[in-house]
Amino acid sequence: MSPPLLQVNDLKKHFPVKKGLFQRKSEFVYAVDGVSFEIARGETLSLVGESGCGKSTVGRAILRLFDITSGQVILDGQRIDDAAPNTMRQMRRRVQVVFQDPFSSLNPRMRVRDILAEPIRNFGLAKSAEDLEVRVTALMDTVRLPREALNRRPHEFSGGQRQRIGIARALAAEPELIVCDEAVSALDVSVKAQIVNLLQDLQREFGLALLFISHDLAIVEHMTHRVAVMYLGKIVEVAPRREIFAAPRHPYTRALLSAVPLPEPGAQRNPIILKGDVPSPINPPKGCRFHTRCPLVFDRCRVEEPTLRSAGPEQWVACHLEDGTAATAE
Ligand code: SF4
Repeated sequence: MSPPLLQVNDLKKHFPVKKGLFQRKSEFVYAVDGVSFEIARGETLSLVGESGCGKSTVGRAILRLFDITSGQVILDGQRIDDAAPNTMRQMRRRVQVVFQDPFSSLNPRMRVRDILAEPIRNFGLAKSAEDLEVRVTALMDTVRLPREALNRRPHEFSGGQRQRIGIARALAAEPELIVCDEAVSALDVSVKAQIVNLLQDLQREFGLALLFISHDLAIVEHMTHRVAVMYLGKIVEVAPRREIFAAPRHPYTRALLSAVPLPEPGAQRNPIILKGDVPSPINPPKGCRFHTRCPLVFDRCRVEEPTLRSAGPEQWVACHLEDGTAATAE
């Protein structure tokens, strides 16, 4: 078996909170608190969970948009969390990003031609001016935008078209992994489907791996190979798509999935309504972080933190119920 393209080991990112007159760091936001996973070449792993669970922070840590608190991020066998600038430059080419809002991530003053040419120039990928032009026009074909649009600026496009430009810009660097951070969340339903189809086509064509960060499980169900579910800075369940959608094991995953509409007209799942709000990541609950909202909570959950344990082929769940603990739901 070939080694994974990306390995994330016990990743932590704690943001200091400055308080008081002297802006002392007195508390931390435990945004990501011990997250581990792998992504194979050509695989899509979806990182899902409610807003504020830390999934986007994981994506940004992989992109090294900030220094991590601890842990390791390994790309193709090489650590990138503490890589020297020279190594990091090459790593940056290999891992690209598509953000949620293409409008704010594309420079409004630049023409599409220059937006696409920038990464090609930065990473020295074109052999000549002609080669640069060939690459830029090929990118437009790849994301199915007309070549004439190369001379237009981002505000002249629709939201879906702008996201295509964002994808083309990511592809310009010839990456192996693209972090899609809520990349289709701001789009209309029909446009969402088109962009997801495009990402899948590109994945097949270029053998790309995708880290698909999303709160939209209905979209995830149609395009992912595996799913990792996050809650309050931790992964609570990881499983292949089929297993997680057919037989979710963690109580939180079950609640999330119960809100996903079924494709058959009129069909409904039994909704599981969770009580209360997600606790603050500044002061996460002791024991199982989900215990304040879990419908199956029992005494042990309040004192002992569950670890991810195998619950089937390629399925991992962090819940005390997985080790056969007898419990009476309260
Ligand atoms: Fe619920 Fe306890 Fe399992 Fe946490 S460990 S998910 S509180 S049953």
